[in-house]
Amino acid sequence: MAIFDTHAHYLEEDFGDELIPLLEKMPELGVERIMAVGYSLESSREELELARRFPYIVSAAGIHPENCAGLPADWLSQLEEMLGCPEVKALGEIGLDYHYDGFDKALQADVFEQQLILAQKLDIPVIIHSRDACEDTMTMLRKYRPRGVVHCFSGSAETAREVVKLGMYVGFTGVLTFKNSKKAWAACEAVPLDRLLLETDSPYMAPVPHRGEKSHSGMIKYTAARMAELKGVSAEDMIEIARENGEMLFGI
Ligand SMILES: [Zn+2]
Repeated sequence: MAIFDTHAHYLEEDFGDELIPLLEKMPELGVERIMAVGYSLESSREELELARRFPYIVSAAGIHPENCAGLPADWLSQLEEMLGCPEVKALGEIGLDYHYDGFDKALQADVFEQQLILAQKLDIPVIIHSRDACEDTMTMLRKYRPRGVVHCFSGSAETAREVVKLGMYVGFTGVLTFKNSKKAWAACEAVPLDRLLLETDSPYMAPVPHRGEKSHSGMIKYTAARMAELKGVSAEDMIEIARENGEMLFGI
């Protein structure tokens, strides 16, 4: 087994003293590679440090839609500097999130758009976060046509098809293993095998039988098994295919 977890957040604030021992045992758990994803300047820097420390970790740097308020004036150049580091393979996660009130939609759109323009300039793939904001996210993706992935996909099968048509990949988490995930199953079925990515979104979205626990990359085999079932391939093949897809997208 050679798992590529294409989306995880490994930060001290979530894992404390367990973080380093947990990451050290990843190869034993069959995990070959992890994309450690930032969501603010600080967390992006922290994930980059992990990528420098562990040969099997690469990182992504970006501003998540919930962290747009109070950015320093030079945030974009700070981000660009991080994206120049060889360990940083993607710009993310970025996008729109209308789930909670209190996050200025116009500001989210502005920060998202500036990062899409930066990705174009640097020719680097993006990791897109979209929650309850499907319409506006798709408008932005149609406009900028980035290379990248829509992660923790929560849209319809129809939207998944459009994401694929735009040339992008679609990532699924442990949500695929939940009992009432009909929408996610339909979306997964609609995505061709060569565009699927596996991810944990650690520490969230732990797959059954670990639902509710803090998730980590070693749990991805459960998600892979469910994805394999939906796609009619073996779990081993699914892990292999998803890893190759991730390596192709992120240029690894
Ligand atoms: Zn995430």
